Amino acid sequence: MYYQSTRNSDLKISSAEAIVSGISRDGGLFVPDSVPKMELSEIVSLGDFGYPERAAAVFKKYLTDFTDDEIKTCVSRAYSSGSFDTENVMELSELRPGLNILELWHGPTCAFKDMALQILPHLLTASVKKTGTDKKVCILVATSGDTGKAALEGFKDAEGTEILVFYPENGVSKMQKLQMTTQDGSNVGVCAIKGNFDDAQTGVKRIFTDPEVAKTLSDHGIMFSSANSINWGRLAPQIVYYLSTYAQLVKDGKIKAGDKINVVVPTGNFGNILAAYYAKLMGTPIAKLICASNSNNVLTDFIRTGVYDRNRKFYTTISPSMDILISSNLERLLYHLSGGDSEYIGTIFSELSSTGRFAVNDRIKSALSELFYADFCDDAETKSAIAATKRDYGYTTDTHTGVAVGVYNKYLSATGDTAPTVIASTASPYKFPAAVLEALGAGTGYADEFEMADKLCELSGMPIPKALSELKGKKPRFIGSVEKSEMLDAVYSLLKIK
Ligand SMILES: *Cc1c(COP(=O)(O)O)cnc(C)c1O
Repeated sequence: MYYQSTRNSDLKISSAEAIVSGISRDGGLFVPDSVPKMELSEIVSLGDFGYPERAAAVFKKYLTDFTDDEIKTCVSRAYSSGSFDTENVMELSELRPGLNILELWHGPTCAFKDMALQILPHLLTASVKKTGTDKKVCILVATSGDTGKAALEGFKDAEGTEILVFYPENGVSKMQKLQMTTQDGSNVGVCAIKGNFDDAQTGVKRIFTDPEVAKTLSDHGIMFSSANSINWGRLAPQIVYYLSTYAQLVKDGKIKAGDKINVVVPTGNFGNILAAYYAKLMGTPIAKLICASNSNNVLTDFIRTGVYDRNRKFYTTISPSMDILISSNLERLLYHLSGGDSEYIGTIFSELSSTGRFAVNDRIKSALSELFYADFCDDAETKSAIAATKRDYGYTTDTHTGVAVGVYNKYLSATGDTAPTVIASTASPYKFPAAVLEALGAGTGYADEFEMADKLCELSGMPIPKALSELKGKKPRFIGSVEKSEMLDAVYSLLKIK
């Protein structure tokens, strides 16, 4: 299998090259030249194996330049080394017959990004070796909270890598800050900057693309690479859990092989729901992909009208990981729906960057409404969904999952479609305790996040994740902050250059 760019379908590179490069030089994203198919019996038989083997079976289809041994090493380091708090890696919780929550937050940072970021470092170091360089890889991340911590946990002590995370000094939650500043590992750096998330992101981009910096690094045997959500090495691992979920539902007798399921995904950058789309293309019997947004509902409008327009008010919500107006991975979907027309994709996405808006043609518009259903919940609706789920099923969700549950309820009343459904749950409620407690009517009177966690434990009956309770009393390693202009110095200091 080869990979093309969404803006150049003549490009032909290996998966290793796609993973090392992250993004194509033409500005496009890497996509497989054809999506591999699996027979229903093959999908169902995944249920006979543990998660690492399920992942290996899927990776074999996409990473055809990797040997079986290389794949095996990657999946076992990621998924059977004890970094997930359940041996199953993902869990299914049944709210009622036909309605299941897919818990994707059993990893070390309690959010679904661990599913991919636990394996990306292993895929990346293997890919670097395969592409024939012996350079050390330096990962730079600008984060508004979740991605930084998940990347740190994934890359800590990964051979041949160094990672440096920049976050806005006053732009992350207390718990997120503590998670990052107490990070262990001998190859990690965490740096607060005096500025906002955009400043961090712009600074990283500038360092990343500065040829002089690249030359200095190269002279020291180091190269930059990226861990952000458009890297194919982050998308492929997300396809696994949708196939795995289908196989598990059959194995548990919840559905019969061949029954179609609906999948609901709380969506921001469109990576997670795109993985479900790939699972469907591969042969998983998925009927509707239900795209759930918060008040930043640019995708709801796009899927309904075919017009993508980011020129709108930006809302800061209680589901911050979905506060996004540019959903980067959408480009991959549109490439496939256009039949691989990279010229067309180049045109609409350059329109997006110059005007903030584009409209797709009728063919894509009707494909979108066939495949997807889209709706959104504002903060008040999200809180009522969290309260109702607790009341009706005794199950507590985080705010992002709350958006998905709320949107599913809207889908149900709009369509009456009672097909078996899986709702992707992207974070543990303990990651957003203040908003969840407020939704449950117990919002005030706490000294800190740890007291909130204790109360949430009492109300939800869910165990507090060790990764979060262990932070209590832990001493920060990375203190202080730097000016925006000092970011490059921080990189050189981590890499012991100059
Ligand atoms: C990143 C994130 C999302 C959004 O996922 P995308 O793949 O960007 O659509 C949703 N929920 C949580 C908790 C996240 O961290």
